[in-house]
Amino acid sequence: MLSLDTVWFQVAGTLCNIACTHCFISCSPTNHAHEMMTFEEIVPHLEEAKRLGVREYYFTGGEPFMNRDMLRILDATLLQGPATVLTNGMLLRRETCSALRELIDRSEYSLDLRVSLDGFDGETNDAIRGVGVWDRVMGGLANLAEAGINPVITVTTAADSVDTADGRARFLEVIRSFGFDKPRLKVLSLFRIGAEEIRTHGYEPQERLTTEMLEGADMSVLQCSTSRMITAKGVYVCPILIDSEAAKMGDTIGETLRPFPLAYGACHTCWVDGVTCRT
Ligand code: SF4
Ligand code: SF4
Repeated sequence: MLSLDTVWFQVAGTLCNIACTHCFISCSPTNHAHEMMTFEEIVPHLEEAKRLGVREYYFTGGEPFMNRDMLRILDATLLQGPATVLTNGMLLRRETCSALRELIDRSEYSLDLRVSLDGFDGETNDAIRGVGVWDRVMGGLANLAEAGINPVITVTTAADSVDTADGRARFLEVIRSFGFDKPRLKVLSLFRIGAEEIRTHGYEPQERLTTEMLEGADMSVLQCSTSRMITAKGVYVCPILIDSEAAKMGDTIGETLRPFPLAYGACHTCWVDGVTCRT
C-alpha cells in the first residue's frame, strides 16, 4: 500500500433488491454473504479513518438505500469528508432525494450519487438488470433532478455499444432528457467473477499479473494502493474481492496498511483496463 486516502463501506452487504446478471459479487435479495452494516458498526471505522487522514468515503452494496441507517450514516460521514453513494437508483423516492438535498446543503463536503444503467432503453437495460428496473430508475432520476442533484451515471461494458461514440451519445441523451445540462457518465469494465463469471466466462490461468508487468510500474493507479473496503465481516483489500476470504486483511483499517498479493484474475483487469471504482 502506498498511502491511504479513501475508504469504502459495504454498507448494504451483498443484499440488493435486484440480481443483475453481471454483478461481480452476485448480490441479490437473498445473498447474506456480507450483512448490512448498522450506524453503530460504521462509527468506529469512521473515527479510525479520520485519525488515519482518510480524505474520501464511498458507500456501496448491494443497494445502499435498502439500509435504513443510510441517511444517518451519510450525515455522520459528511462531517469529516466528501461521500459518494453507488446506487441502482430504484429507491430514490422523492422524500429520500429531498433528504439528500438537505445533507448536501448543510455540509461543507460534497455528496455525490452514482446511478447504474446498463442500457439506453427499457429493453436493453432490463435484459441485464431485470424486468421493470428501467421504469423505477427513470422515476429515481426524475426525483433527483427535481431535488437539483446531478448524479454520475455509471454504465458497464455489458451495455451494448457504450464504448462507441454513438452508444455514448445515446446514454448522454438519456441523461440530458432529465434536464441535467452537464451530463456525467462513467464507463466501467466488467470483472469476470461472481454472476459475471456465469454470464460470460471466468479468467484464464494466464490472465494474471506477472513480476515483469509490474516492474517499475506506477502502482498508484491500482485502487488497493490507496484505499480499503470495510464490511460487516472486517476490512478487505478492495471493493472487488470481498468474496475471497484471503482478501480480508484485518478487523481495523490500521491492521491492513500493508501490501497485498495481486494474484487474482480481477487484478489483471484492474491493471490492463486501468479500472478504478472511484468516480
Ligand atoms: S450490480 Fe449493483 S444493482 Fe446489480 S445486483 Fe449487483 S449490487 Fe445490485
Ligand atoms: S482486484 Fe486486485 S488490483 Fe484490483 S484493487 Fe483489488 S487487489 Fe487491487
